[in-house]
This record gives sequence, structure tokens and C-alpha cells, in this order.
Amino acid sequence: MSMPLICETVTANDLTTLRARRDGCRAADLVELRLDGLVDLDVGGALAGRRQPVIVTCRPQWEGGRFDGSEEERRRFLRAALDAGAEYVDVEWRSDFSELLDVRRGRGIVLSTHDFKAGVPSDLEARVAAMRATGAEIVKVAITASRLADCVPLLDCRRVVDGPLVLVAMGRAGIPTRVLAARFGSCWMYAGDAAPGQLSAERLLNDFRFRSLTGDSAVYGVTGRPLEHTLSPAMHNAAFASLALEAAYVPLEAADADDFMKFAAAVGVVGASITAPFKEELFRRVVTWDPESRRAGAINTVRRHGEGWAGTNTDIAGFLAPLRRRFDVSNTRCAIVGAGGAARAVAIALATEGGHVTVHARDVQKAETVAALVGGRGLALPPPPGSWDLLVNATPVGTFPRVEETPVAAHLLTGGFVCDLVYNPLDTRLLTEARAAGCGTLGGLEMLVAQAVLQCEWWTGQRPSATLLGEAALGALGVPPNGSHTSIDACPRGRVSREASGS
Ligand code: NAP
Repeated sequence: MSMPLICETVTANDLTTLRARRDGCRAADLVELRLDGLVDLDVGGALAGRRQPVIVTCRPQWEGGRFDGSEEERRRFLRAALDAGAEYVDVEWRSDFSELLDVRRGRGIVLSTHDFKAGVPSDLEARVAAMRATGAEIVKVAITASRLADCVPLLDCRRVVDGPLVLVAMGRAGIPTRVLAARFGSCWMYAGDAAPGQLSAERLLNDFRFRSLTGDSAVYGVTGRPLEHTLSPAMHNAAFASLALEAAYVPLEAADADDFMKFAAAVGVVGASITAPFKEELFRRVVTWDPESRRAGAINTVRRHGEGWAGTNTDIAGFLAPLRRRFDVSNTRCAIVGAGGAARAVAIALATEGGHVTVHARDVQKAETVAALVGGRGLALPPPPGSWDLLVNATPVGTFPRVEETPVAAHLLTGGFVCDLVYNPLDTRLLTEARAAGCGTLGGLEMLVAQAVLQCEWWTGQRPSATLLGEAALGALGVPPNGSHTSIDACPRGRVSREASGS
């Protein structure tokens, strides 16, 4: 099968804007001109002077579009587009426009169906077969994924019918059907911001290496919920590109661990990063771990192991790598704020280095459970002033967009060094206030990069450049490449290693 194309969807309220947007689609192979929504709808004007092949669509309100005129008007517009030589015209399966299929014996017709109700339509395969039987050149099926596994029946459609298909699941859980268009058997994928979960052509090309993916590319991803702000695809796709690997890394936003497992089995995912809230649940589902992950009772990475999965936790070494350069943990009092998956990894890391760990959480029982992993104490929030040398925030408090929040008030920051696992923003309120209080500080970005480097190496046997991954992460955060990205204080108080001189 040939490689899928990129079709950029353009919408506008007026013809001048639609044409300008059409002509701005330089990365796409074809452009979908959405005539619905135009106040001055003119088919000839929309097509005139086009530089790329187009699909003309006039989506009615009853199929999720903006056209509120009569069906007869709509039919006339689409017929005019065919007569004017439009390469493709989109005809809804539920419309009564069968005569349009006869104009070119189905050639140039995209017969489409869109389901906005979350879930998989019960008649999916029968519908696809019936649509194919009309003779339309392209059959397009868009469903709304309520969970990752809703993408799986789309894979099966390919077995039911031959010929060109576009199979897409809308919504964030459906993103794999867009990035992995080649695997799902789509002849093109729509790009833009006209539908939930749609990605821009630039993101498909630059972040996800759309043009280098085939149906056989190895599939990796990050699973968790929500994944809106994850930087992992930017880092890992940059790593795969630099290592010349034919592999994709995709956000796999799952409803729960079962949902991820079902999708991964059907699509053949070979490795994944695990983020909240699945780090402990998936630990219980893998068949083998390394001793440190086993001790943590949490994993952040899986790879295929026979019929099951092997797990590891690169957060442990990833947390220590940048910290070791700045702070000597041995024999210090270490207070961890939070008792989730990351706190477990941090607790193991600090105990391994000889730190005396306390864990502080709003649920003291959870704090006790994590502290027990390393023979430490579980206590309430906040860590009392004077009780710690190193404080680690392992909660999401302070993450974008709630950047005004902090897990520990400024007047309680009395120790020597503060780490914040939060990486967006790079410099959190906690870190700013810690520096003002005389503490050394370390933000979450370096750990993020270090754990991602280790993940890539564990999956592929090849170590990517940390600098490259850091730049990819900063790019995804929208930070200019030459800015100052560390949050290291020049003269931190406490037991800071002599090696600490910035990075
Ligand atoms: P998690 O498993 O969901 O745990 C979150 C912890 O934070 C839980 O103990 C939770 O308490 C606590 N928490 C949440 N909101 C809180 C609030 N408003 N006040 C007090 N405690 C609160 O998440 P995780 O995987 O451990 O990740 C935690 C943070 O670390 C996230 O921001 C994540 O992005 C970051 N992280 C960064 C890196 C890195 O490489 N830089 C790596 C891993 C994680 P409850 O159990 O009571 O809800």
C-alpha cells in the first residue's frame, strides 16, 4: 500500500479567508475546502487558482458541520464542484445524494460518515461494507473514541473491505489513528483544527514524522490520563529520528490499564512510557521487573516480553543523575512531598544514596505506604521547618496552568536544596521561593530528559543524545533554544556537591 497523504482541512467565515488559508497549506498533499460556514459561498471562487488537489466539503449541521441551508442547495454546490473539476467531493453516507456518485462513476467521491456519540457504532463493519458497495472511490469513517480501545475496531475494517479508506477516531483517545494512518490503512489523514483530536500538518510532519511511518513501523507511546501536555512524544520521536529508527511514538491516552493493554495487543505496541495514574497498576500487570522497580512497586516503562510485558523504572536513575551533580544525598534528611508513583521512585533513589527519607502527603496512610518501602516515616503535610536538608516535590502542584500554586509555603523553606519534579513551567513558584530563601534548586526538566534517554536505550539498545531530547522538550514547551533553562542557584545553602556549577 502507498504511504498515506496529508489532507489539511481549512474552514473560514468568508471566501477571501478560505482562499488565503487554502493557499497557506504548504505542507499538505491535498486541501479539504470546507464551504459550510461561508457567508458568501461561491464554489467557483473557492476552487479558482488552487495549487493543490482539493476535497470540497459542505458539511450540514446534522453531520456536525455549519451548513444550515436546504439539502437541494447543498446538492447543487457539490454538483457544481464536480463540474468545475474538483479532485474530490465529500458526500455524507446519510445524505440522499446518490446521483452524485454517478457523475464520475464514484471516482472523486469521498463517501463519509461521522459519529459524534462516543463509542464504536454497533454496525461499523456492515456500514463500511455497504459504503464500499456504492462504488465511491474513498470511504471515510470517523467515530468518536471514548477510550483507546475504541480505535481497535477501525483496524478490523481493513479486513472487511478493499480499496481506499480513511479511518479516524476523533477525540484525544483517537490520536493514534491519525499518527498511525499507515498502520490503520488510511489513504490520507486530515490535519488542522476542525475536529476533536485533529493535529496540525506541521505537528504530524515534525513531531510525529508522519512521512517516515509505514504500516510496519514499530509503535511506542506514552500511556496515562490526561496526556494533553506530555512532552514525551517530542523527545522520543526526536530520538528515533536521530537514531534513524523506523518507529513511531504516540500519545496513548487510556481510560484505564485494561484499555491500554487491549489497544497495545491489537496494534502491536512494542514499548511504552507509563505516566500517572497507571504507574502502580501496570507494575502489577507486567511479568518481570528489575530489582529497583520491584522495590518501588511502580514502573514508568514497559516493553514486550514474550506474550506479556517487562517493566522498569527509569525515574529512579533519571532523578538521581542531575541531582548527584549538585547535592550529596548521603546522610541527609530528605522530605518527599506526595505519595504517588513518582514519589516511590524518588524514595528508592534517595534511600539508595544513603538519605534518610520522610514522605509527606495529604493522605498520611499513603505517605506511610511509600515511606515503608525504604524504612522511612510517613507524615502529614507540610514538612515542618528545620526537619529537612533536601525537599522534593513529587506532586503536580504548581504545574501549568495553575502556576500560582505551591506545595510548600515560602516561610517553610528552611533546608538546603529543593527539587521540583514539575517541568512545566521550568521554573515553578516553589523553586523561585526556594531560591529566595537561599536554597539550591533543581527543576524537573533534567530528570525528564534523563529518564527518557534511559527509556529509549532500554527499548532500542541505543542511547540518544540528552541535549537533543532537551531541545525537543523545550521546543514542545515553546521555549527558545538559547534561553537559560536551569533553575540552579549559584550559591545554594546546605550540602551541595562541589561539582555543582550549573550545567
Ligand atoms: P501520581 O501518581 O498521580 O501522584 C501524585 C501525588 O501528588 C499523590 O500523592 C497526590 O495525592 C498528590 N497530590 C496531587 N494533588 C495534590 C495537592 N493539590 N496537594 C497535595 N498533594 C497532591 O503522579 P506521579 O506520577 O507521582 O507524578 C507526580 C508529579 O511528578 C507530576 O507533576 C508529574 O508530572 C511529575 N513527574 C515528573 C517527572 C520528571 O521526569 N520530571 C517524572 C515523574 C513525574 P493523592 O493521592 O491524595 O491524590
